Amino acid sequence: MTFDVDLFVIGGGSGGVRAARIAAGEHGARVALAEEYRMGGTCVIRGCVPKKLMVYASSYLGAFEEARAYGWNVQTPTFDWMTFRHRLDAELDRLEAAYRSGLAGAGVRVHDCRATLEDAHTVRLATGETVRAKHILLATGGRPFVPDLPGAEHVLTSNDIFKLDALPKTVLVVGGGFIACEFASILNGLGVKVTQFYRGTQILRGFDHEARDRVADQIIASGVSLKCGTDVSAMTKTPQGIRVISTDGAETNYEAVVYATGRVPNTQAMGLEKVGLAPGPRGEICVDGWSQTAVPSIYAVGDVTDRINLTPVAIREGHAFADTIFGARPRKVDHDLVASAVFTHPFELGTIGLTEEDARAAGPIEVYATSFKPMRAAFAGNGQKVMMKLIVCAETRRVLGCHIVAPEAGEMIQLAAIAIKMGATKEDFDRTCAVHPTMAEELVTLRKPVRVA
Ligand code: FAD
Repeated sequence: MTFDVDLFVIGGGSGGVRAARIAAGEHGARVALAEEYRMGGTCVIRGCVPKKLMVYASSYLGAFEEARAYGWNVQTPTFDWMTFRHRLDAELDRLEAAYRSGLAGAGVRVHDCRATLEDAHTVRLATGETVRAKHILLATGGRPFVPDLPGAEHVLTSNDIFKLDALPKTVLVVGGGFIACEFASILNGLGVKVTQFYRGTQILRGFDHEARDRVADQIIASGVSLKCGTDVSAMTKTPQGIRVISTDGAETNYEAVVYATGRVPNTQAMGLEKVGLAPGPRGEICVDGWSQTAVPSIYAVGDVTDRINLTPVAIREGHAFADTIFGARPRKVDHDLVASAVFTHPFELGTIGLTEEDARAAGPIEVYATSFKPMRAAFAGNGQKVMMKLIVCAETRRVLGCHIVAPEAGEMIQLAAIAIKMGATKEDFDRTCAVHPTMAEELVTLRKPVRVA
């Protein structure tokens, strides 16, 4: 059987681009890739990167206020959304171009259009063209999920926020996951009056319970009106914005409503039925440890597989796939102990490993934790306390989990993750000399457990 290419990648996001570049550039495969929107995918165009730049933009308000306490004479600062947006657009253009040149440099043929499956070895492009491929990689990512309820057509999602022409004065953010919390925090920091609804009892389901409480406390203290146990019943468009009827019976007008109620894999109308692939219960592509589907020539990586939906994981899955199939270096991705961060502010949440609840269920543990006002904020009269917590296995002494709620917790957890991934014990942390004066030094000076369970 002859093929036009060795690999056809559908989706030019984190996972797809890495797989294409490694397969072609390092292993000499003939590779084509189709992207229907913008090269770089969610992370670069409407996820991690623009979001983090908005986190930076929104952090200045608190910094200006703090500067006054340190003796700076700061005039009343104002924020110009369109100045920021033009710079953001330019930065995303630059990054997209860098992704394109990386692919071109590796010899990948790019098709700027949608692609779907025709059979186990054939991809159909929106142009009508078909391409025969020895292997096909599905790397189509995911998209925001908005529940079907009256007025849902009026809401914004994370995709829309980076493209706003003006910042609304009032916003309702619906959702309690990391994206909802980050956007509530960002918009609040940019001066928008933010209300956040979450239908469950506490935001950030799945994270450590104390960390969740601490993030919720600081979100509220920073000015977001967080309402747990509350959801939207219906919405209607009004000249002033959107009138929201909530499950507690209240009716409130918001200039905009942002839904961040989860994401679903992009598997619809992909031609899965033509190759005999049935999506899983969440619409995901089911794969084995090699990212291979039930059709031997078709693989899938990244959010479309709904394993761990983070950029570095998608990149690793794409890289491992390319090394395995084209580089004679078979390897599976290790999905255990993946650190992550929630970029709320002033304090972020950095986390790795088991929550206290999950660790308790697995066996006897010791919990080491501390809470204190960091020097910098305390000096400025800020009352918020950071939290550092280690979950330790009582038998092996290994650190099973680490949860930090503090400024720059994302940076801290990245480094703690190396030790924890190496299997560090509590005693390894203890014999590490502190860096003083820092917040992170508390991680190596936690002497007595606060709980034994
Ligand atoms: P994607 O990056 O989504 O790429 C898929 C690509 O496929 C898209 O470009 C899409 O247009 C294209 N496509 C889809 N269907 C087709 C088709 N039929 N034909 C052609 N092209 C198609 N992760 C982190 O690690 N840290 C963070 O801080 C973080 N923040 C986030 C913030 C937000 C607001 C969001 C939405 C996500 C965030 N993520 C974060 C998650 C991260 O962006 C994703 O895990 C990552 O982008 C997944 O990469 P992927 O390659 O699987 O898919």
